[in-house]
Amino acid sequence: MPGVAPNNCVHFLLNALQRRGYTCIGPTIRDAAIVYNEIRTEQDLPIGYTDEQDGGTYRLKKRDDEARFGYTVGPQSWKQYLFPASTLLMKAQRTPDGFRVDASSGPTPRYAFIGVRACDLNAIAVQDRTFLKGPYVDPTYKARRDAAFIVVVNCGQAGRTCFCASMETGPMAKAGYDLALTEILESGRHEFLVEVGTERGAEVARELPTRAADDGDSSAALRMVDRAVAQMGRTMNTAGIKELLYRNMEHPRWEDVAARCLSCANCTMVCPTCFCSTVEEVTDLTGDHAERWRRWDSCFTAAHSYIHGGSVRPTTLSRYRQWMTHKLATWIDQFETSGCVGCGRCITWCPVGIDITEEVRAIQETDHGKGH
Ligand code: SF4
Ligand code: SF4
Repeated sequence: MPGVAPNNCVHFLLNALQRRGYTCIGPTIRDAAIVYNEIRTEQDLPIGYTDEQDGGTYRLKKRDDEARFGYTVGPQSWKQYLFPASTLLMKAQRTPDGFRVDASSGPTPRYAFIGVRACDLNAIAVQDRTFLKGPYVDPTYKARRDAAFIVVVNCGQAGRTCFCASMETGPMAKAGYDLALTEILESGRHEFLVEVGTERGAEVARELPTRAADDGDSSAALRMVDRAVAQMGRTMNTAGIKELLYRNMEHPRWEDVAARCLSCANCTMVCPTCFCSTVEEVTDLTGDHAERWRRWDSCFTAAHSYIHGGSVRPTTLSRYRQWMTHKLATWIDQFETSGCVGCGRCITWCPVGIDITEEVRAIQETDHGKGH
């Protein structure tokens, strides 16, 4: 049974989670953007701020209310906490009789993620398939994922680059959370609908100052989500998209987009599902100490596809085509799901405003292989 909590319920939520030993990570303002960081008190949230986004642009703006979660998504996603950008895999130290290897990963942080959007919850489920459901289970990801407590906040507003509704990944989370909040802001009312997803979520919810929700409260929460659906600035038609891309590998649109793309890799860094990494080994100047690190990599770098003497994807055309066809086609063969959840980050944070929905539409409208 959902409950209704007052607008300061995050204060009680943080207390309950901190008492259980969680490090609470949530939205904060830094460098004129909403980014994730540790939040110790409710005042750390971007209260009264929103974001305006479009292809290649992002701006923070004051709202005329005290919304705690009145923005869409920023440049970061939760992947940096579950699949860190740099992970120490092992250390080796020279000893008098050889060398000693230490491959321990250290203590696992216990994160509570506050303000997970539905698209990002689906992105975590996509990364679960990559890191947990194949023949090799990634130990760093598994330990962090198992320890994480997830508080969803369903979207009450969407940005111009959002298209989760057409990807069926939002803006309302259906499962996979411990607690789900919907911030109700209408006609001077400011409260949260609180829904429970797990037993540990129920334990935490018992420490929030809630009353039982009635049909009117649930309808108000749905109105917020419907408003977000109506505000979405983009859509993607995914019907037959895998076959469309497979039969259009030589479409001239790839040349068109390659002429605009800088191969900067921003889209892959901000994407909550991209998972490419590389392994680097470094030694100190004495040669007595060596470390092996895993670092995020991108299919947009020449080095990523370098194999004995050359790069398999030497051109921007081949890299953009690889990225988009992997996201929307080969990912389906590999992981039985799309690699795109419609969060819109790659559109907002592309310095030249390349828009994955527009690129798909351009190929759909001039489908070269249709009928063959
Ligand atoms: S491809 Fe773009 S819109 Fe899709 S999940 Fe990645 S960043 Fe979000
Ligand atoms: S599509 Fe945009 S963000 Fe991605 S590599 Fe090209 S220029 Fe950079």
